[in-house]
Amino acid sequence: MDYQAILDDINVQIRPLLGSAGQVASYIPALARVSPFQFGIALRTGDGQEAEAGDSATPFSIQSMSKVFSLTLAMRSLGETLWERVGREPSGSPFNSLVQLETERGIPRNPFINAGAIAVADRLLSLGNAKANLLALLSGLCAEVIHMDSEVAQSEADTGFRNAALANFMKAFGTLDNDVAQVLDVYFNQCAISMSCMQVARAAGYLCRDGAHPHDGSQVVNEAQTRRINALMLTCGTYDAAGEFAFRIGLPCKSGVGGGIVAVVPDTLTLCVWSPALDNTGNSHLGRAALELFVAKTGLSVF
Ligand code: GLU
Repeated sequence: MDYQAILDDINVQIRPLLGSAGQVASYIPALARVSPFQFGIALRTGDGQEAEAGDSATPFSIQSMSKVFSLTLAMRSLGETLWERVGREPSGSPFNSLVQLETERGIPRNPFINAGAIAVADRLLSLGNAKANLLALLSGLCAEVIHMDSEVAQSEADTGFRNAALANFMKAFGTLDNDVAQVLDVYFNQCAISMSCMQVARAAGYLCRDGAHPHDGSQVVNEAQTRRINALMLTCGTYDAAGEFAFRIGLPCKSGVGGGIVAVVPDTLTLCVWSPALDNTGNSHLGRAALELFVAKTGLSVF
């Protein structure tokens, strides 16, 4: 398949739509300043071919896409014991909802809602060097040095009242072992990681290779764990639109409020799209449109 021609074509179709719909996330001040007139797309196949188009080399805030990588680290280090602190069911509630935590006694529904990712951050903190380990994982996966954007992290810390509420609530239920401020520091910094579409497509490469590292072939996670990460992405990765994503796109995806979406075609390739304006479900409006075009043009889907 001529992936470069397909991505060029998608870029030509999407560009005229920039600015036509959706809004950039405004609840994090540093994200509110990002221009919505940007669109990038990049992919990497399991055997290392790459293609990219548009603003594919521009770094953006990966936000909740980081939850895939923090989950990867936690699954690798903790195995099954991770699931004592976090569930595996779609939440059916907003990503930052407090309500479910009360009825479910402080155990978040899944690792991709904020409460779940905060519980995972607590586990990583207990293992030591959480932020450094996450950056080391990402830098190794894309063979480039990856950074956390301290301005974005500070902006989140200044305005993250709901996340602080979620963390305190879980602490009260005994779901968090560490100091709330330290757990939030890990969480805000992981959300503030800055990467381009090409870097994300490379970094996620193990998800289409049964867990094998895209460069050195070592197991990042094992085959069963890889399947489970993909399953969670499909069922829980795109906020309250996971059903609609499965229906229209049919690929494991994880989105973030920075406007990125990473998608996996198991055994074939990983893909990242980015455009900052979000639809009313919090997913990138044009990122979603681009994924629909990609599936239509290639026929690649898990269904
Ligand atoms: N840092 C964001 C928050 O906690 C992440 C949200 C997201 O990308 O879903 O609100």
